[in-house]
Amino acid sequence: MQKWNMIIDVAECTNCNLCTLAIMDEYVDNEFPGYSAPMPKHGHKWIDILQNERGQGTQLDIAYVPVMCNHCDDAPCVRAARDGAVKKRDDGIVIIDPVKSKGQKQIVESCPYGHVWWNEQLQIPQAWNFDAHLLDNGWTQTRGGQVCPTGAMKAIRIDDADMRDMAKVESLEPMKPELGTKPRVWYRNLWRYSTAFVAGSVSREANGIVDCVEGADVRLLRDGKVVATAKTDNYGDFKFDRLAENSGACVVEIVHGGSRKSIDVTVGKSVGLGEIRL
Ligand code: SF4
Ligand code: SF4
Repeated sequence: MQKWNMIIDVAECTNCNLCTLAIMDEYVDNEFPGYSAPMPKHGHKWIDILQNERGQGTQLDIAYVPVMCNHCDDAPCVRAARDGAVKKRDDGIVIIDPVKSKGQKQIVESCPYGHVWWNEQLQIPQAWNFDAHLLDNGWTQTRGGQVCPTGAMKAIRIDDADMRDMAKVESLEPMKPELGTKPRVWYRNLWRYSTAFVAGSVSREANGIVDCVEGADVRLLRDGKVVATAKTDNYGDFKFDRLAENSGACVVEIVHGGSRKSIDVTVGKSVGLGEIRL
């Protein structure tokens, strides 16, 4: 059976917030019986955009990650709910029943992603329900997917086995897989948000003129072993990306035209080394 999944490309998200606004337009003041009660005008972000600034100065990279209910296949919110107030549909969508969930604040606390919001006025937990009321009426795309100008957000209906293959081939990954909840929201290029880099710009002074060094060999070493290599480009820039955050001490070694320089670096978040004079 084909089920719904959401594919989000972090490299394509520009933080335009149109998906967030489309959800507000759809749900604020609007009730869809059996699917959702009205979303409050303030305080809820059923689709939120996270931001991570990596690096410093000229070596800066910003990634935006839209987050929402992951419609998990092994969802803690389903287990936490009483009287079947949260149900997993056959098409993969998780729905918090707007009537049965009344007073069940534990559903908010059960979500390890923090994607359930408490509606104080109605005393109900709420989350983005994959626009199920629209899909059930023949829509083939969610509101967010429909308005996204870059194609960064797209819902697809696909067999689970095909989805797994696609995830493998296209390096798609869910948010926090270690939680074991089996999310249905998949990210492409999530490394742009979740990993660190070490970057720098190599220069040399000759006859009073400072110039970029192109073609320098740069090596990243950990415990004396080379873990990555790069060559500087025509601006003298190099970058080692997709390093694990907080991965600790390493050495950047630069070799060019008989000159050699080593720099000790501690990788916590991303590190922009700035200009490095050989
Ligand atoms: S993200 Fe949270 S609310 Fe959504 S299905 Fe998973 S556990 Fe439930
Ligand atoms: S509409 Fe698309 S580009 Fe804009 S914030 Fe949402 S996912 Fe990102």
